[in-house]
Amino acid sequence: MCEPSHRLVTGEMALCSPPGDDRVQMTKSGQQGPHTAAIHAGFDPADHRGAVSVPIYQTSTFAFPSAEEGAARFSGISPGLIYSRLGNPTVQALEDCVAALEGGAGAVATATGMAAVSTALLAILRQGDHIVATQPIYGASRKLMQQTLARFGVTSTFVPATDRDALQSALRPETRLLYVETPANPTLDLVDLEAAVAAARFAGIPLVVDNTFAGPHLQRPLEMGADLVVHSMTKSLNGHSDVIAGMVVAREKSMLEAVRQTAVGFGTTIDPHQAWLALRGIRTLGMRVERAQSNAIELARWLEELPTMAWVRYPGLRSHPQYDLARHQMSGPGSMIAFELTGGLEAGRVLMNSVRLITLAVSLGGVESLIEHPASMTHNGVAGNQQREEGITPGLVRLSVGCEDLDDIRADLAQALTAVEASLGVGTFAV
Ligand code: PLP
Repeated sequence: MCEPSHRLVTGEMALCSPPGDDRVQMTKSGQQGPHTAAIHAGFDPADHRGAVSVPIYQTSTFAFPSAEEGAARFSGISPGLIYSRLGNPTVQALEDCVAALEGGAGAVATATGMAAVSTALLAILRQGDHIVATQPIYGASRKLMQQTLARFGVTSTFVPATDRDALQSALRPETRLLYVETPANPTLDLVDLEAAVAAARFAGIPLVVDNTFAGPHLQRPLEMGADLVVHSMTKSLNGHSDVIAGMVVAREKSMLEAVRQTAVGFGTTIDPHQAWLALRGIRTLGMRVERAQSNAIELARWLEELPTMAWVRYPGLRSHPQYDLARHQMSGPGSMIAFELTGGLEAGRVLMNSVRLITLAVSLGGVESLIEHPASMTHNGVAGNQQREEGITPGLVRLSVGCEDLDDIRADLAQALTAVEASLGVGTFAV
């Protein structure tokens, strides 16, 4: 059994790691745990005049000491800096840190999570290629494949996330990429990563995993054999709802090069100020994730007991159909909960309008709790019949649990549920 995230680059992970000869090395001992790595990996104060926090190299371009040196840098003979779209020390520190956290050979930071998804896909695909992807996935990722890439002659087949054999069954001779998102936004269905890796190996094609929901603290797909991990760093990696950013992490250097060339060519790279903010957020990744998760575990158990809940979906509940798989491939169930009230859409609408502490907003993984309605918001671009096929029911409410005091979040939900009862007369709330 793979136990992600306990030690980062050690022999302990060997059981679930393909031989990792070119992983990013930790700056100090090479044996750092995830909290240590989030603070120290990829950064050595000695490289920055002793600065303890990574400086922001807020510059678009870098001076060449001579014309010869400038030419040498452009031709790759000299490793010196050229121009910030191509590389920047603040960005590099962020990339090395996330690569270490994910156990990858390297990473490319991008301007948004969608830039990470599109860069990863464009680095691999050519006209005429076919993608097999699981569903549901983030609405914009699906739209990118189904609509935008289709204009360039790339077709996609979507298969249910929970069907272990579906990825392999959907393979065609022209399939060039498998794409999965687990846990899936917004249903919290899981994709069996071992089965996905096996399907990719069988076909000899890369597996790309959107690891945004779990993050590297709870799930490390590269160590299970995935080829690329993509992140919306806007979410838990940054964790403060003040940055839009993304990351592509590669298991091997060869694929990293293709990703970097694509990012530089399409201009999807991040700017140094955003990179610095993200890096600052990452320093507390483990603490935030663990606190939000412990809140979520308690809230999910409490919500599940309420008679007014039609269903509650959370990978840490025994009632989750893939509870065992969650325990197998994740080191914790995370901080996202999906649920539906017995009063359906209307009850959910009153609930979202009645919360006071919890913020009604899209996004997730921040220190503050957020609530939203996927069918009309994040997954609005997915057609109604398609939503139902994917399990995105009209009444599904998505809760991103934050780091506030548990009692305060619970009290806010309780008063909002009382408002639902007063408004619609549904259920009795045992709070
Ligand atoms: N992937 C997932 C799972 C997401 O939830 C999101 C955004 O919500 C993205 C990718 C896109 O990220 P961004 O909004 O940073 O472009």
